[in-house]
Amino acid sequence: MIIVKNASHLAPQISQWKREGKTIGLVPTMGFFHAGHLALMQEAGKQCNKTVVSIFVNPRQFGPGEDLEKYPRSFDRDAQLAKEAGVDLLFAPTPEEMYPRGYQTSISVQNLSKGLCGQSRPGHFDGVATVVAKLFNLVQPDTAVFGEKDFQQLALLRQMNADLNFGVDIIGHPIVREKDGLAMSSRNQYLDRDERKTAVCLYKALQHGIKKIAESQRIPVVKLIEELQDIVNEGQGCRADYIAVVDPATLESQEVAQKGALVALAVFINDKVRLIDNAIL
Ligand code: AMP
Repeated sequence: MIIVKNASHLAPQISQWKREGKTIGLVPTMGFFHAGHLALMQEAGKQCNKTVVSIFVNPRQFGPGEDLEKYPRSFDRDAQLAKEAGVDLLFAPTPEEMYPRGYQTSISVQNLSKGLCGQSRPGHFDGVATVVAKLFNLVQPDTAVFGEKDFQQLALLRQMNADLNFGVDIIGHPIVREKDGLAMSSRNQYLDRDERKTAVCLYKALQHGIKKIAESQRIPVVKLIEELQDIVNEGQGCRADYIAVVDPATLESQEVAQKGALVALAVFINDKVRLIDNAIL
């Protein structure tokens, strides 16, 4: 596996692969790999001849007071795991490399970035869209794989890809979960033992929503959200940032919850760790 830290060293390798007619699959990440990341890498490997994984804890997608400094990092372990997953090239630039002095451009996907996580993390999705656009330009991928765990991110990157004519084939990968249902996340490692057990309330709430729709078909969203809220509140120290039922294509709020709608939630555990999860009803 080739490790590249400097963007200017990336271009010759990408050009060579293009000349050889190889297809390139990209998996953008912030590192500290878990099985969810590895599944995305495997998917990229199935789709394309060459797999490129980026590790970049992107300062532009963290707001003031968020966990940029303490975000878990473990480059050597990540490199080993990526190699074992069959990754061909690991791209790990520095913030100075991605945003040199004088950098001043940002990409904003207007409507899709407004609700859900966009409401509590202003500017977050502009940071995401900007860095992914830069990665698309640097890596020139045929395919890029993103997790459905970050459903809003996936939706707005699809929109950006279409709006800006990147022509990348964007693949969404289903959420990879721990045995008890907790969605895998690099941030799970902030949780102590008790918090880790409590964190399953997100999954329990989603399962409740799925069960209710299977039983009753259509439920007023206000009522369903109340029930989900109760399940989240049962978790010691859990506080919902938001619980929403939206159209999975537009992310617009729905009044009636029914099959095919997306339930998404973000929950603070002990006001310390913010976790997100979602499911299609
Ligand atoms: P991150 O390193 O958290 O920025 O995530 C990098 C990519 O992995 C994003 O496309 C995420 O949606 C995806 N991802 C993170 N956790 C999971 C998971 N549990 N299942 C599937 N994909 C995931």
